Amino acid sequence: MDEQPRYRAWFQSIEDPDERYELHEIVYRSRTGALLEVVHDLAELRKVPPEEWKRRFERREHATRWPFGSGVWGKKEWVLPGIDDENVVSMFEGNTNLFWAERYGKEFGLENLWIKQCGNSHTGSFKDLGMTVLVSQVKEMIARGVEIPAVACASTGDTSAALSAYAAAAGIPAVVFLPRGKVSVAQLIQPVANGAIVLELDTDFDGCMEIVQQVAERDGVYLANSMNSLRIEGQKTVGIEIVEQFEWKMPDWLVIPGGNLGNVSALAKGLDMLLDLGLVDTKPRIVCAQAEAANPLYLSYQRNFEVFEPIAARPTLANAIQIGNPVSIHKAIDALKRYDGIVEQASESELAEACARADRTGLFNCPHTGVALAAMEKLVARGVIGKDERVVVISTAHGLKFVDFKVKYHELRIEGIESQLPNPTIQLPARYETVRDEMLRQIERRFHT
Ligand SMILES: *Cc1c(COP(=O)(O)O)cnc(C)c1O
Repeated sequence: MDEQPRYRAWFQSIEDPDERYELHEIVYRSRTGALLEVVHDLAELRKVPPEEWKRRFERREHATRWPFGSGVWGKKEWVLPGIDDENVVSMFEGNTNLFWAERYGKEFGLENLWIKQCGNSHTGSFKDLGMTVLVSQVKEMIARGVEIPAVACASTGDTSAALSAYAAAAGIPAVVFLPRGKVSVAQLIQPVANGAIVLELDTDFDGCMEIVQQVAERDGVYLANSMNSLRIEGQKTVGIEIVEQFEWKMPDWLVIPGGNLGNVSALAKGLDMLLDLGLVDTKPRIVCAQAEAANPLYLSYQRNFEVFEPIAARPTLANAIQIGNPVSIHKAIDALKRYDGIVEQASESELAEACARADRTGLFNCPHTGVALAAMEKLVARGVIGKDERVVVISTAHGLKFVDFKVKYHELRIEGIESQLPNPTIQLPARYETVRDEMLRQIERRFHT
């Protein structure tokens, strides 16, 4: 008789493979303070041949059978194999579209540029991918009798939106700590609407992070920041999904914006599994893009990653990556070393103009995606990214969360930024001749000159 597969995963210190914990234990760091990672029993997973994994994942895509229609839970055996399906908290996140940025790419000679639209998701950012895993695990722990009064996070906006939505769906109290005045209205209203306890603190993200860690340690609330490696397990599916969308072919380059650096670590972790389990046999290169105003990883890269120094991050339009002391720094450096990585930066003006150029070709991306687009444009210009290579830029959030930035850009109201492609609205009296003359003049000017 066939033995039933027994897929297993556990927390393990990134510094000491012998230091392990069960996934239902409340533990965020190793005894020496290092981060943990979720490690899977690869020997058991290897018993399924690569072609069978591919077929299984493809079959589940967009299925309604709970919970496999989710891009994350369609890969459940690779994500969180031990959880009861009934404890999964999912909005069928993931399975986002890959946009062939044909017109935008051709502006600088790239034929094969794709944008992974992670912002087309329940709360409008990739943070949903990680939060479904974390909140599901919390629901499972509560069902097993572990006492968890609430889940909590510090956030630059998108993490709190995702946590609040998933916690509300599960009926678990959520507390979010936000830097006062530093998140967009759209980001702020999400946790408010979902009924989270929203605490606005007079500090920046790094300051909020310190407080939430204390609350987690002393008061038993469950920490939902990406320091908690459960989030990484969900986020890692993005790389797997991209490869699946290219019919299991690896692109040449993956470009991703980075702040706290959980997402770049997650991207690499997903690719690791594809390689380890034999679904692909080539490696892409990874580019992590940082805002010049918050570039500690870039500075470390300049010194071959030999030193890392936290900085005080300055304000940036890309507010979700205004982070000077990224928690996943060591995981990210490791990931970049494994994937022959590059770190590039973008100034405020570069990111704003890249966003505007891309928007003109039908996109509508967030400023963080603008950082990645600007970095990619620079690498193409320098000849590092070849014009015939297949490039995927990971778009992290929907532009609709950042309309204040776009409005100001088109009204020429961002200080220090020229706005090379403004498109102000035109106010006219409601009189046919005036309207017609102006309309024809505009069509002539824009499309025929
Ligand atoms: C969180 C976030 C990032 C940065 O991800 P990290 O894991 O912190 O590096 C980038 N873009 C958006 C829109 C985000 O919400």
